[in-house]
Amino acid sequence: MGRKATSDVVERFVRYCEVPSQSDPRTATTVPSTPAQFDMARVVASDLRALGAQDVKLDEHAYVTAHWPASAGAEKNPTLAFCCHLDTAWQTYGSSVHPQVKLYKGGRMVLGRGRDGAEVALDPAANSELKDLVGENLVTTDGTSLLGGDDKAAIAMVVSLLARLREDPELPHPALALAFVPDEEIGHGAALLDLDALGAAYGYTIDAGSLGEFCYETFNAAEATIRANGRSVHTGTAKDVMVNASEALFRVHQLVPPQDRPEFTQDREGFFYLERIESDCEDARADYIIRDHDRARFEARKDLLRSAVAQVNAEYALRPSTRDDQPVLSIDIHDQYRNMAEVITRPENALLIESARRAYEACGVTMRTVPMRGGTDGAQLSFRGLPCANLSACYHNAHGVTEFVPVRELETMVDVLQALVGIYAEG
Ligand SMILES: [Zn+2]
Repeated sequence: MGRKATSDVVERFVRYCEVPSQSDPRTATTVPSTPAQFDMARVVASDLRALGAQDVKLDEHAYVTAHWPASAGAEKNPTLAFCCHLDTAWQTYGSSVHPQVKLYKGGRMVLGRGRDGAEVALDPAANSELKDLVGENLVTTDGTSLLGGDDKAAIAMVVSLLARLREDPELPHPALALAFVPDEEIGHGAALLDLDALGAAYGYTIDAGSLGEFCYETFNAAEATIRANGRSVHTGTAKDVMVNASEALFRVHQLVPPQDRPEFTQDREGFFYLERIESDCEDARADYIIRDHDRARFEARKDLLRSAVAQVNAEYALRPSTRDDQPVLSIDIHDQYRNMAEVITRPENALLIESARRAYEACGVTMRTVPMRGGTDGAQLSFRGLPCANLSACYHNAHGVTEFVPVRELETMVDVLQALVGIYAEG
């Protein structure tokens, strides 16, 4: 496959990283959660217009959408969508980003100093994949902020694919639908995306890690809030009167299996995560998130938490201080998202996985299917009727100051996208 104009993807990527566009969970009630995401949306919309994309739209929620017509002969093939997110993570400083392209010569490579003055470096001790990247250029931060390769590398790849299609209209491809969405990092992502207007039959989000990664499995996810109502009295006269809400909450937590925690689990192992706790004698509240790839085990985890609450309520009901009261504890659980594998593994969607495997292979890349230990825009899109698997965006160390993207991976991924649209243009 010809590799025309590949370095333009690096130029675009660096330029996109320089536009800060963090989302913010504290202002999640408005979409976008931050005005900065409009800055990024405008840059992308303007690049799409400059390339000649059709019906480029930037709406009041900072969603950018566009279409690209099919090559001759592929007009009847179903429209294929690509979806990337405009926001960057909020957990690390990112309101001023200074990307640099650095040649990696092996060993420890200093990127600069962090905002606290401490040296920030890439180290093969922390990233074993660096051993295979000696002699290659990496796009890195200067140590002061995140990079935003998650997910700006993906935006740069998609726009660079369009640049290729414009340069060589003979490259086979079906009609393409393009979506660039805000607030993915705070869980909204594609929620307001108008799928009818997009009009695609299949899609790919591009928001996975290193080159070759491929995901169509996510957790099943729920959040649980447990509240405790206590009764505070002077500790000196508390006998048979006091009900300590904090104690009731801790008792429930003791009944949650201690090994089923994020810090002890990996691959397809689920967990309970105690996200936040606020408590005193009268009032206590704990927020948990519950995760499991397996639907039955996921339901069992929710049942376990409900049973723990029931058991502790029963224990308290035997006490003189609470015998005639309402139960001390209450629990509220709601589902957040479901494992998208339910949709992607249906026979009619098999081509999403097979086509991706062929496209990676055509570029000499072995596809690695990784179960995501988190959510992705593709999960909600899949359940809303646009089956979407997730391709590599090629970022490493996402959400931190050591985030980096290898130039070769970035360039190869444009080749992979070109191969992929070629496969979807087949009769
Ligand atoms: Zn992402």
